[in-house]
Amino acid sequence: MTFKPHLASSGLDLVIKRVNPKVMPQTDSFFTNLNFDNSFTRDLPADPEERNFCRQVPGACYSRVQPVLPSNPKLVSVSKDLADSLEIDEPTLNSQRFVEVFSGKALLEDMDPFAMCYGGHQFGHWAGQLGDGRAINLGEIVTTEGQRWALQLKGAGPTPYSRRADGFAVLRSSVREYLLSEAMHYLEVPTTRALSLVTTGDEVVRDMFYDGNPKAELGAIVCRVAPTFLRFGNYQIFAARGEIEILKQITDYTLKHFFPHLGEPSKEAYVALFNEVCERTSEMIIHWMRVGFVHGVMNTDNMSILGQTIDYGPYGWLEDYDPNWTPNTTDATGRRYRFGHQGQIALWNLVQLANAWVPLIGEPEPLQKIIEDYPAKYQARWNEMMLSKLGLSQPQGDVDAELFQQLLNLLSSVETDMTLFFRGLAQLDIKTHLDSEEANKGIPKELKNSYYKEEELTAEYQQKLHLWLKDYNSRIQEEKLTQAERQTRMNRVNPKYVLRNYLAQLAIDKADKGDNSLVNELLEVLKNPYDEQPDHDEHAQKRPEWARNRPGCSMLSCSS
Ligand code: AMP
Ligand code: MG
Repeated sequence: MTFKPHLASSGLDLVIKRVNPKVMPQTDSFFTNLNFDNSFTRDLPADPEERNFCRQVPGACYSRVQPVLPSNPKLVSVSKDLADSLEIDEPTLNSQRFVEVFSGKALLEDMDPFAMCYGGHQFGHWAGQLGDGRAINLGEIVTTEGQRWALQLKGAGPTPYSRRADGFAVLRSSVREYLLSEAMHYLEVPTTRALSLVTTGDEVVRDMFYDGNPKAELGAIVCRVAPTFLRFGNYQIFAARGEIEILKQITDYTLKHFFPHLGEPSKEAYVALFNEVCERTSEMIIHWMRVGFVHGVMNTDNMSILGQTIDYGPYGWLEDYDPNWTPNTTDATGRRYRFGHQGQIALWNLVQLANAWVPLIGEPEPLQKIIEDYPAKYQARWNEMMLSKLGLSQPQGDVDAELFQQLLNLLSSVETDMTLFFRGLAQLDIKTHLDSEEANKGIPKELKNSYYKEEELTAEYQQKLHLWLKDYNSRIQEEKLTQAERQTRMNRVNPKYVLRNYLAQLAIDKADKGDNSLVNELLEVLKNPYDEQPDHDEHAQKRPEWARNRPGCSMLSCSS
């Protein structure tokens, strides 16, 4: 069997013969207020080849391409809040036209669909041209407030960049991308958004674990939304090909539309751009570490130039705190993209981006300097984040380092649910607990629920926890924090509701049977991740035992 780490087999011809969607002349009032401004296709060089077949595309930033006509599109879910931000009105949202447009069945007159050309380093190796293999950008809208949003269908059929794959997506991976894109937004983690999730009515064949068991699954399309979907790989490809003029064009385009505060294109502006990408990327990773998110495939083609989480594939949610955990079975041996390694990998990816920009700047030194400063800045941000997770606000240098290290040692020494632990810790009135007679009698009841294996809670563990709580309490007292203040602060940064791997899988199991209720329910609950939602406590429980080793719950592949 040949090993295909990223792409499932397609069996399709290279030239697509299926019918394309029709442009809809505007005869009704739906979507009429949307103001399209397709800057990417207007400002950047296009691939002159109009036929849609897999190939290398030199000398261009994108290829114009049409979505494949879905046979029977049905709406699974829509993010009403995002629709609101996009100024899509209620009648449009509820119309059949909405489903047609966001399944690729109908195109609006002002749309100009295209797939981007980009490259990337995959698992540490330069992979050459990758590109939007199954993402089709429909166009960009600018809201009345001046916010630019690119609309992109993921899973709407093949493009010149599909390589050996089919350009489609299955429902299970689309539910995961849709739900978490929105959930991350509400967690206040920078992210691309998701407007809608539809099923296409067409079957898509996938060999989920690349083990010779292909199965027909339901095809689905997510409409992703972001100011831009530019990735590190969009710059790397032109540097790798020596197409420096295009590298300059796409970088200048980036500055003009997304970093206008950095000024007109110049060597200084490029350096400032790199610096800001570093800052945003590091900030994004710190958020991931705060909430317990593991991306799973941090290849440079999956790194947004805006520092937004992008490309939700075999990601996972840290349940028991384990810095070595990766959800991605394709990464199980090297664990390159494990939870605790994400900060370093981001830096490695930024170095690749810096390499791509050296030809524009003419010398590596200014970029090198930024790279050298990154670890210390990242560490400072991480310290600040950890302090906030404990409700504290007055840093104390080495004392903090010790406090955090002891805590992380505790968390990893026995199977501890990170999310439940921090919520429980917020609830525990530490001083009252330590002053009480109960203090030496085991685990405080507020924390009990965060452990997976009671037998691991030895006397030694309990003693260490006790000592750590004492150290922590001194800090709380020094900051003169009341229990209520600390709890409020902690509950603002330590979410109660996260998209646990098994919850996503339960929603998928139902959706596969045509029942979309859990997808929609989770979307609602995850809108307020930091709030107590007593009616939804069942979604804030630790992973049940059945989910410990179930595919989809603890193991995911890139097959999607
Ligand atoms: P990923 O690791 O999922 O970000 O994908 C890596 C590359 O493979 C990107 O260029 C994707 O567009 C492409 N790709 C992934 N899945 C498919 C698919 N089913 N059809 C076409 N291209 C794909
Ligand atoms: Mg990708």
